[in-house]
Amino acid sequence: MAKIINVIKGTKDILPQDVNMWQMMEKNALEVFSRYGYKEIRTPIFEATELFARGVGDTTDIVNKEMYTFEKSDRSLTLRPENTAGVVRSFIENGMARLSAPVKLWYKGPMFRYERPQAGRQRQFHQVGCEMFGIKQPAADAEVILMAVNYLKSLGLNDLEVEINSLGCPTCREEYKNKIKEVLKPEFDNLCEDCQNRYEKNPLRLLDCKVDSCKEIFEKPEIKAVIQSDFICEECAEHYKELKSYLDKLNVKYVENKLLVRGLDYYNRTVFEIKSNNLGSQNAVCGGGRYDSLVRNLGGDDVPAVGWAMGMERLYSLLEKQTPEKLDAFIVSNSTAEAFSLAEELRTQGLNIEFDLSNKKFTKQLEKAGKVSDLALILGEDEIVVGKVSVKNLLTSEQISVDRCNVFEYIKGV
Ligand code: ATP
Ligand code: MG
Repeated sequence: MAKIINVIKGTKDILPQDVNMWQMMEKNALEVFSRYGYKEIRTPIFEATELFARGVGDTTDIVNKEMYTFEKSDRSLTLRPENTAGVVRSFIENGMARLSAPVKLWYKGPMFRYERPQAGRQRQFHQVGCEMFGIKQPAADAEVILMAVNYLKSLGLNDLEVEINSLGCPTCREEYKNKIKEVLKPEFDNLCEDCQNRYEKNPLRLLDCKVDSCKEIFEKPEIKAVIQSDFICEECAEHYKELKSYLDKLNVKYVENKLLVRGLDYYNRTVFEIKSNNLGSQNAVCGGGRYDSLVRNLGGDDVPAVGWAMGMERLYSLLEKQTPEKLDAFIVSNSTAEAFSLAEELRTQGLNIEFDLSNKKFTKQLEKAGKVSDLALILGEDEIVVGKVSVKNLLTSEQISVDRCNVFEYIKGV
């Protein structure tokens, strides 16, 4: 036999038995985002490497360690590790700055990062995300956070935690960076290797470090005092305050976290993450923030922007834990033709229905029903003659007789 070729480490098939939930995530994205005036954009999966070096930032892990880069015809190309840079490129290239603000774009699709595969971390993974261009006021930040929360709610995910922080603007952040460096200087040799490397280039990233010995250092009172200090300038503070007051008004619960700095270089002012307690150590489902200088840095006009991205694999594992997906009902009958027509009647009304296509014994069909649904619709010879269906609740074993023409209403009422 020929040698089997396996899927590449860190990538996964999405199999037919799992695809329903993926389709639901995509369908709800379209529905919820459309309500907020977003239009979908589909950009290429590979771009010029320089786009990510400039757009994501060359001090980031993504650019330094995680990119899939290859040469073709003397050009350096990279599989997209995230999609904000690609969307901004397209925004600039297609003159979208001329459109009336805000320009609201969303996307979904695969991203590629060369990371160590583990639970919640793949090398090809999927994101759904949004970007809003042209509004600098904090109402835009509040709206994108609210939309993320409402998207999660549409999937039945109600109890996730929103964390927010403000990174200030490049001016006020500079001072904060210097203070952090100063207070950490005596501890330099005790920091992990990554933190030592980031110390000069990107000192704020240290605060994000997950290594226990570094976390302990940040807990030392004199260091913690600097980290927790209010460093942002008056204008940034006002922006942050307004954002919080919108979130309060909109009943979006949030926690402020001064250690939340996010991995990417381009954020200013608002940053946020949405986390779940059900995901183990890779617990962030959504990350985002404001990036007012990115469009300009990539050669466009001065256009403020704010957006976020959600990891769909992590969403999937939350949904999977939540409820096993079941059919609305399974039809049990010795008459394939009768089962067929009842199934079709109910399917055209929007229900998910299956029946036995292979004429198995009645008891086998009932067994199968119990595995795939909470309801069996029994169409025995007696029922067929009198135009009834026996509806059996497979959880309680209760059974009642319903007129065939009322089955849909009965199921919807269950
Ligand atoms: P993390 O701290 O988990 O590495 P990140 O800051 O690198 O996250 P972002 O670039 O903000 O992540 O991406 C947004 C979301 O995409 C994350 O919150 C996460 O849900 C998901 N994500 C990021 N990297 C991966 C990956 N390698 N595999 C699966 N999902 C991922
Ligand atoms: Mg990462």
